Amino acid sequence: MPALDCCFKDDAVKVPSQKSGSGDLQTGDALSPGLYIVATPIGNLGDMTIRAIEVLRRSHLIACEDTRVTGRLLKAYEIDTRMQRYDDHASPETRARLLDAAGAGPVALVSDAGTPLVSDPGYRLVQEAREAGIEVVVVPGACAAIAGLTVSGLPNDRFLFAGFLPVKDKARRDVLGELGEVAATLVFYETGPRLERSLRAIAELWPEREVAVARELTKLHEECRTGSAQELADHYAAHPPKGEIVLLVGPPGEEAFDADPDALLREALVDASPSKAAARVARATGLDRQTLYTRAVELKSQ
Ligand code: SAM
Repeated sequence: MPALDCCFKDDAVKVPSQKSGSGDLQTGDALSPGLYIVATPIGNLGDMTIRAIEVLRRSHLIACEDTRVTGRLLKAYEIDTRMQRYDDHASPETRARLLDAAGAGPVALVSDAGTPLVSDPGYRLVQEAREAGIEVVVVPGACAAIAGLTVSGLPNDRFLFAGFLPVKDKARRDVLGELGEVAATLVFYETGPRLERSLRAIAELWPEREVAVARELTKLHEECRTGSAQELADHYAAHPPKGEIVLLVGPPGEEAFDADPDALLREALVDASPSKAAARVARATGLDRQTLYTRAVELKSQ
């Protein structure tokens, strides 16, 4: 069994140590040519799937963001497949070479942690692979956004993943403003130094919404703290957070939907045409867009 000294919270996870022979769970012994999108752990090495290990072993090449980071993972699992650095800023020639290789044999794509393409490189490679008729195969596994959603206790029947919020205050407010009408839990990636400012921006816009900060998931100091954005901002101002963070904001409460449609339309008409205002209020309330439009035109002319 490889040495897994860094991130296990317990030692109950057994890792298969054979180099080959257990058979790929999907395709049998040899992997067919194609681009294999392989998820890797977001902290706890035990979250590597058996299939991910096998696919990485049997691939002819592994495209990765950082060969040092992926090198450590491969070492832990005694995988000696060749690596090549790749991100979406790579030259078209680099991408073309990778696609040629994927057309001829199995090529894996991994990111530093979690699911490639989710706020990570890979989109252009997958898009071009599909355009070129190269098979794209997913080997799913850990993803911080989903992990955060599942521990947060916030409604998960509808959620919207919005990646990282912009750094600048105005841009951040604009994005939050756009998302404010979405009747779903919002999921963001965040960093420790920016968390408090984001929470303060959320507190200003949506003081009543339930918020969760899921930090260092699957690692030794994992925590998930919930409360209003104001409470969490105060907490993290006093205890600056370390490590990696998923920030989640619960959907607007029923009160928002009980709001007077006229009041919502008037608010939307401040910066939108009757048609856009009606669309916005319809999305937020589920009311009929045409009826709202008629009323928006009346309100505008008053
Ligand atoms: N593709 C990755 C995935 O599937 O989760 C995400 C890559 S993105 C560049 C990195 C961000 O994901 C971090 O800044 C943090 O917001 C979030 N993240 C990654 N690992 C995490 C963890 N263990 N706990 C909480 N958030 C994490």
